[in-house]
Amino acid sequence: MLVLKFGGTSVGSIENMNNVRSIINDGTQKIVVLSAMSGTTNALVEISEQLNAGDRDNALELIEELLVKYAQVIEDLLQNKQLKEEVSKYVLSVYETLIEQTKSKYNELVHNTIVAQGELLSTFIFSRFLIQEGINAVLLPALDFMRVDQQHEPDSFYIQQNLNRIIDDNQQADIYITQGFICLDVQGQISNLQRGGSDYTASIIGAAIQAEEVQIWTDIDGFHNNDPRYVENTTAIQKISFDEAAELAYFGAKICIHKPLCRLEI
Ligand code: ADP
Ligand code: ASP
Ligand code: MG
Repeated sequence: MLVLKFGGTSVGSIENMNNVRSIINDGTQKIVVLSAMSGTTNALVEISEQLNAGDRDNALELIEELLVKYAQVIEDLLQNKQLKEEVSKYVLSVYETLIEQTKSKYNELVHNTIVAQGELLSTFIFSRFLIQEGINAVLLPALDFMRVDQQHEPDSFYIQQNLNRIIDDNQQADIYITQGFICLDVQGQISNLQRGGSDYTASIIGAAIQAEEVQIWTDIDGFHNNDPRYVENTTAIQKISFDEAAELAYFGAKICIHKPLCRLEI
C-alpha cells in the first residue's frame, strides 16, 4: 500500500483539492494523510494565543472569521445536498468546540484541542468531497490509532496494532483519508506532533503498515538545490541520494517526491 501526504496548500483551494482527487484516484488502494487547509493552523494558533493573553473577544472574532471561510468552502465544493448538510453540521460542531474552549480555563489541553481542528476539518470535508465525486473513500480518525508515549515518541506497537485492525475492518475502501499532525498523548488526551507534523504522521503510518512507499506531495515541483523562499532561481534536483537528502532536510529543506520531476533514491 502507498501512503500519500498532501500539505496545506494542496488542500487549500477547490482547484487544488481537485488536483489531489485526480492524483489519488488511480484505482490503487492507498492511505492519504492531509494537513489543515493553508492558513487554518496559523489562525487556530492565533485564537489560542489570544485566549492565553486573556483577549476572549478577539479570539471570538477570529473564530467567526474561520466559520465564514469554511462556509464558503462548503458552498464552492459541495453540490450534493445531503453531503453539504453533513459537512455543514460538522463545521458547526467544530465551531461549538472552539467556542467551548474560549469558556474554559486556558491550559495545554485547550491549546491542543484548538489547533487540532484544522486537520479534523480538512479531512472531513475532503472525504465527503471524494464521496460526492463517486470515490470509495473512508475517513480513518487518526485519534483511533495515532498515539505517543511518555517521551512523546510514537507508540509504535499501539499504532501498528490499531491501524492495521482499523484497515482490516475497512477493507472495502479504495482510499483511506486520515489527519496528519494530531495524536493522543500518553494520558489519551488530544495532542499533536508539532508544527509541520503531518509529514511525520505519514512516515509513522508508512512504518506501521510497512508501506511500499511514502510520498510527500507539496506545492513545488521537486527537491530544489536551495530554499526558493530565500534564494532566487533555484532548480529541482533530478536525482539525490538518501544521505544528501537527509543532510538538506536537516538544514531545513522540505523533501518531496513529484513524478516525474524529482526522484528521491533511497
Ligand atoms: P506543505 O504545506 O505541503 O507541508 P511546506 O510549506 O511544509 O509544504 O513545504 C513546501 C515549501 O518548502 C515549498 O513551497 C518551498 O518554498 C519550501 N522549500 C524549502 N526548501 C526547499 C527545497 N530544498 N526544495 C523545495 N522546496 C523547499
Ligand atoms: N497543520 C499543521 C501545521 O500547519 C501540520 C502540518 O501542516 O504539517 O503545522
Ligand atoms: Mg509542511
